[in-house]
Amino acid sequence: MNNEKPVHAPLSQFEVVGGEVLIGGLQLGRLARRVGSTPFYAYDRAKLIERVHHVRSLLPQTVRLHYSIKANPMPALVQQMAVLVDGLDVASAGELRTALDTGIDPATISFAGPGKTDAELSQAIAAGVMINVESSKEIDRAARIGDALGIAPQIVMRVNPDFELKNSGMRMSGGAKPFGIDAEMVPMCARQIDSLGITLQGLHIFSGSQSLKAMAIAESHTQAFELARRLADATRQVIPGLYLGAGFGIPYFAGEQRLDLSPICENLQKLTDSLDQQLPATRVSLESGRYLVGEAGLYVARVIDRKESRGVIFLVTDGGLHHHLAASGNFGQVIRKNYPVAVGSRMADKEHETVTIVGPLCTPLDILADKVELPRADVGDLIVIFQSGAYGFSASPVAFLGHPPPLEVLV
Ligand SMILES: *Cc1c(COP(=O)(O)O)cnc(C)c1O
Repeated sequence: MNNEKPVHAPLSQFEVVGGEVLIGGLQLGRLARRVGSTPFYAYDRAKLIERVHHVRSLLPQTVRLHYSIKANPMPALVQQMAVLVDGLDVASAGELRTALDTGIDPATISFAGPGKTDAELSQAIAAGVMINVESSKEIDRAARIGDALGIAPQIVMRVNPDFELKNSGMRMSGGAKPFGIDAEMVPMCARQIDSLGITLQGLHIFSGSQSLKAMAIAESHTQAFELARRLADATRQVIPGLYLGAGFGIPYFAGEQRLDLSPICENLQKLTDSLDQQLPATRVSLESGRYLVGEAGLYVARVIDRKESRGVIFLVTDGGLHHHLAASGNFGQVIRKNYPVAVGSRMADKEHETVTIVGPLCTPLDILADKVELPRADVGDLIVIFQSGAYGFSASPVAFLGHPPPLEVLV
């Protein structure tokens, strides 16, 4: 053990020019003037493209890559992602509309989520998208609605696996879960689907998310393939598609390292090679949200006040937890930790100080960064929160306290 303070993974994806962070080829100050007001989220188009190309360069050629819209549903961003990936995953009628508006082939869209309403099922069946059914009752409802519409529903069974992704930020499987059909119930539900005259389109297995452990992710993929083989055996049905949650995470907090995809993709190559022999008709798709878009986004807020209270320097900004719940530490975190943050307008300044950055809300929860060492900032300076491209704006309580919503730009 060494005693050095853990640091954030280097944010080398954003260049600094003239002491300012560069986004979409623009210096931050100029971008802020073009946006016209703060706070705002900015997503760097080139970085989205670069990231998808990076993943594709490592993935086996036969594996399809899907973008999970819930990570960032901004329509312009989804439009960009739609031309880069092989499919889109949605989890509501709203996201379905965003996905269909891109013009992507509806057959490559999949709709997951417990508690889909009849209206949502109708819209999804009418559009011809894959429905990831999450219960036996939902199978019956989809079949009934399909009959009424005169359209055969495209059904993928979401499986609640009998394993989970270890060390993941968010566990989505293993044990009792509201998501998916328990693995042991899958053969029975396959018979149910068959008896309704519906052709099963595949299995969907999502075992966890936000993992930075390559070996744990690879192991979860291996287990998912094994489970799919077992279920294919047990149901004695062709499984045209195997849809896997990738589980890829990005580093947010001090001490976390970037995930190395190489061992994961080498393992996937082995798995798909053996699948080709055992289930030659099965195509594999990998679903990822955060990993594809999270590092390409920044949240930018302006310093409104700088004050000292009993020895602590506070920078009060116009942005806060109402726009960026995750950075405030209130989106599922157990212990509050700081996101990587910078004074984006003073990247080259040498004089540093320890500050706490807060938002404008009248609640002590509205902290963007607690006791961080930054260049000395003053009223008017721009604070940047990195790793903000996923689960930012759309995962925040924008209406809380009645401040205006942030703008979003894709540059
Ligand atoms: C949320 C979700 C994903 C994406 O998770 P990320 O951690 O953002 O990659 C993939 N598949 C399903 C079914 C999801 O609900």
